[in-house]
Amino acid sequence: SPADPPRPPAPQGVAQSRADAPALLTVRGLQKSFGTTRVLESIDLTVNRGTVLALIGPSGSGKTTILRCLNGLDLADGGTIDVAGYATLTFDPAPGKKQLTTLRDRSAMVFQHYNLFPHKTVLENVIEGPVIVQKRNRAEVTAEALALLDRVGLTEKKDSYPFELSGGQQQRVGIVRALALRPQLLLFDEPTSALDPELVGDVLRLIKELATEGWTMVIVTHELEFAREVASEIAFVDGGTIVEHGAPKDLLRNPREERTRQFLHRLL
Ligand code: ADP
Repeated sequence: SPADPPRPPAPQGVAQSRADAPALLTVRGLQKSFGTTRVLESIDLTVNRGTVLALIGPSGSGKTTILRCLNGLDLADGGTIDVAGYATLTFDPAPGKKQLTTLRDRSAMVFQHYNLFPHKTVLENVIEGPVIVQKRNRAEVTAEALALLDRVGLTEKKDSYPFELSGGQQQRVGIVRALALRPQLLLFDEPTSALDPELVGDVLRLIKELATEGWTMVIVTHELEFAREVASEIAFVDGGTIVEHGAPKDLLRNPREERTRQFLHRLL
């Protein structure tokens, strides 16, 4: 049924230009206010399969809110999100519970501050969502979780608690927890900005690996060098709108919009 999208295995293949790949999510005129403050003016965005989209822009411009609206953690209050092949969600009035579940099921979020459950072990953190929310078989999920932890070199930490791990290790658990949900889209919110500089590299390397495997990702980042390397597209967000959206080399080297130019100029 449309409420139960299939859970595909991890995508294969190397990230390339995905301009002609099918869309996963198509966002039209998305709006969001907190109280009387309009945070998203009108966001239009298409996320195609295999795309790695970096969202850059000043602090407070709405990047995190875009991510949170894409997976239903925040409820937009206007516009539509088309979940390819399943449902078109309208937000005024709010979508139904089933439609929201479809949207939430598409993606998994990696948070700036990891957001691990402090009183659960690493393994428990990873299997919680698949077992409790997705109601998958515990033994199967545990086997998958252990394989993912092995992949990121954290097998020995499976029974540790988050406070016993470094920030970099916690964030790798955060990424494994997202992957264990078998999402079609990975959302990263400033995944390295809370890390000590010497721990940033491991996490960025892991994200880069996921990109070359063909995962579809939207990454909010202030690491322009990383965005240039890993993203197939960059969108510059300012004042709750996408000012400019294009290939990294065009947007970073040759921005069309004055606002983009000023933002990049301040950083470089
Ligand atoms: P960015 O990720 O680009 O730094 P955010 O999306 O976090 O920007 O925030 C955009 C604006 O929305 C900011 O002004 C922020 O203070 C405001 N905002 C975000 N979340 C909330 C909330 N839950 N309640 C009220 N205001 C919020």
